[in-house]
Amino acid sequence: MKRKLENNICPICLETIQTSETRSVLSCSHQYHDICIHSWLYDNKNCPVCRTTHTGCTRGPLKEQSKETIYHILEMQRSEQIEKKKQIRILEDRIIALEMQCTLFACLINNVMHG
Ligand SMILES: [Zn+2]
Ligand SMILES: [Zn+2]
Repeated sequence: MKRKLENNICPICLETIQTSETRSVLSCSHQYHDICIHSWLYDNKNCPVCRTTHTGCTRGPLKEQSKETIYHILEMQRSEQIEKKKQIRILEDRIIALEMQCTLFACLINNVMHG
């Protein structure tokens, strides 16, 4: 029976494997970030979780240049997230402003009705 890893956590770096990230699933059905597992297999030749031997991988750690590309992509994703958070904050501010207007309006109506 396959045991599903909780929330797609990569056991090497303990970070969630996002759907946008490249994942590698070993023949033992354990899954990792592509970058993490290939660096691991280069040194260890086994699955870090169940110790099943995996000698098939000859790719080794990614070359410096492609590592830089990945860091660049990660950096871009990070700044995208920051941008999204900014937009959310702007929307939240707008909601607060609208709520204040509503309260103000309710007060005005209340005054008209009862004052
Ligand atoms: Zn990882
Ligand atoms: Zn495994």
